[in-house]
Amino acid sequence: MYVIVRCPGCRTFSYVDRYQRWKLCPVCGQAYEVSRVPAYLEVEDHVEAEHIVRQLDKYLHTMKRKDLTPEEMEDLRRQYAMWVRKKI
Ligand SMILES: [Zn+2]
Repeated sequence: MYVIVRCPGCRTFSYVDRYQRWKLCPVCGQAYEVSRVPAYLEVEDHVEAEHIVRQLDKYLHTMKRKDLTPEEMEDLRRQYAMWVRKKI
């Protein structure tokens, strides 16, 4: 499992292995503790994680917004759960 997180410094979306404690931001170089930042979504593999990171970036850019609302985060989790079920 991987967790989608966001750098608290430059707000770049990224993902980490679920058991990883620290993440080094590839963009600004800040190291942050994974448990201290919001977990956007848990996904099964890194290909999915990369895909979702790109979608989130694109979505916020298109909407000219800085972050997802709690409702949108819920939606994201729900949509992902449905998608995983369909895949099986
Ligand atoms: Zn950063």
